[in-house]
Amino acid sequence: MSYEEDGVLELEDLNLPSEERLKKGPTAIIECIENIPCNPCVDACPFNAISMEKITDIPEIDYEKCIGCGTCIPACPGLAIFVVDISREKAMITIPYEFLPIPEIGDKVKALDRKGEIVSEAKVIRVKKNENKTNTVTIEVNKEMGMIVRNIKVVK
Ligand code: SF4
Ligand code: SF4
Repeated sequence: MSYEEDGVLELEDLNLPSEERLKKGPTAIIECIENIPCNPCVDACPFNAISMEKITDIPEIDYEKCIGCGTCIPACPGLAIFVVDISREKAMITIPYEFLPIPEIGDKVKALDRKGEIVSEAKVIRVKKNENKTNTVTIEVNKEMGMIVRNIKVVK
């Protein structure tokens, strides 16, 4: 089923980095495809890795400039930016997180796919509380889940 039919993005809908780039280290993945008038991601990146010509363009990311710092994640009101690192034995995914409770480092949480379905277990590696309440949570999952998991469910 396509994104237009069910609202769920598939990998084919996205402009993804090459396998070679993914092996080099963390990079932002921008899952924003709707040409909405929005651009805080462009200004948020200290490395000028995100660009767009006009405000209704889809943001473009230069994967050679992106170092995967995650600064752009809380700047995105659409919660559409993730940082993925599949260069190691386990995948690390940093997600925007606005729910409560906020997980803590070391917590075991449920990992959800783009449909919101539980697809695996995840371990919380890092939590960054941000002033605008769009916190960022980094989780560790099995490598094959790196491009599948995009949210978490915290069960306390
Ligand atoms: S992760 Fe960091 S370097 Fe990459 S696009 Fe976002 S702000 Fe820029
Ligand atoms: S800030 Fe987020 S929603 Fe806005 S253009 Fe950038 S990626 Fe899309």
